[in-house]
Amino acid sequence: MFTVLLATLPLMMLASPAGPDTALGRGAVIASAAAGAGASLFWLFRWPSRRQALVYNVLCCTGIAAGCLALSNPYAGLMGCTLFAVIGGFLAYFHSVGHVAVNFLVAVGCAAITAARLIADTGDVALTAAAAVNVIALNAGVPFGIHSLLHSLHTDLRAADRDPLTALLNRRSFYSAVNTLLADTHAVDAAINVIVIDLDKFKSLNDTRGHAIGDAALVDVADVLRRHAGVNAAIGRLGGEEFVIADVDLPVLQRRTAELIRQGIADSPFDITASLGVCSARVDWGAGIESDYIDRLIEAADAAMYVSKRSGGNRVVHSHLDGADLAEA
Ligand code: GH3
Ligand code: MG
Ligand code: MG
Repeated sequence: MFTVLLATLPLMMLASPAGPDTALGRGAVIASAAAGAGASLFWLFRWPSRRQALVYNVLCCTGIAAGCLALSNPYAGLMGCTLFAVIGGFLAYFHSVGHVAVNFLVAVGCAAITAARLIADTGDVALTAAAAVNVIALNAGVPFGIHSLLHSLHTDLRAADRDPLTALLNRRSFYSAVNTLLADTHAVDAAINVIVIDLDKFKSLNDTRGHAIGDAALVDVADVLRRHAGVNAAIGRLGGEEFVIADVDLPVLQRRTAELIRQGIADSPFDITASLGVCSARVDWGAGIESDYIDRLIEAADAAMYVSKRSGGNRVVHSHLDGADLAEA
């Protein structure tokens, strides 16, 4: 719709005394109108691919430049440069900052040429400056506004993935992080390792020292997990004082990680300890991974965690997928 409207502009200007006054200029505006109409017909039938949309934007940008430069009235040409702002908005939304910058430079170039012609024709520097400010403000403001909007939406979306107290992944985003981790893994000898961590007698910390201290202890535990888990590990807070880590690594490294976490929590200034359950499983990467596989790993690690808790806590217990072979590290 927008393209159709844009495509009619050059045709309208053909009938105006301010319109193009050379054969080349008339040819340029007719070509722009035809290109705009062609592109809008294309959009009518199907949503373009990213590359097609970019070609469309380049066509629009070129068409607007040709239209602005072809007009015999430089003031009309200069004000026409405001149209680049619409393309800038599209580019900011769908494409990159680099594309926005190129469009902006074309707009500034066309504005400079038409402004120079306007001053040469009228000597009215003030009008020219005012029009130029208008053009620059719109061309900078529209893409910047859309870019800022996208940025804050993105930040909000990221925040929605996080537990607000500890900034660890929440349950939903933990699962999607694990799926990404698995999809990105190609090492044949790697295994999936899951560690479930539950704080021991945490309720009594709340009861004796208050909820705020309890919160501070949870934040501290989250820091311990981040410090010792691998850089690619997915670290989630599944419940109040229950955490889970999933990573793809050698099982022997994960044993060490679990022990470092146990020690790190026991060393925290909040006088707390944790029970840890670990489940490691080698995976046939070629055969693919069933969708409930991670759940089964978490269940097995959870069972190991309870064995640790029943034995007094502050220890790491290892398990296998079938629940057999629970062993303290
Ligand atoms: P166990 O050794 O059997 O694990 O005992 P526990 O007290 O750690 O576990 P229980 O499940 O009985 O209690 C968990 C407590 O965690 C209850 C609740 O007060 C506390 N809790 C849960 N979420 C939060 C939170 O966000 N902040 C604080 N300060 N405490 C929380
Ligand atoms: Mg607990
Ligand atoms: Mg618990």
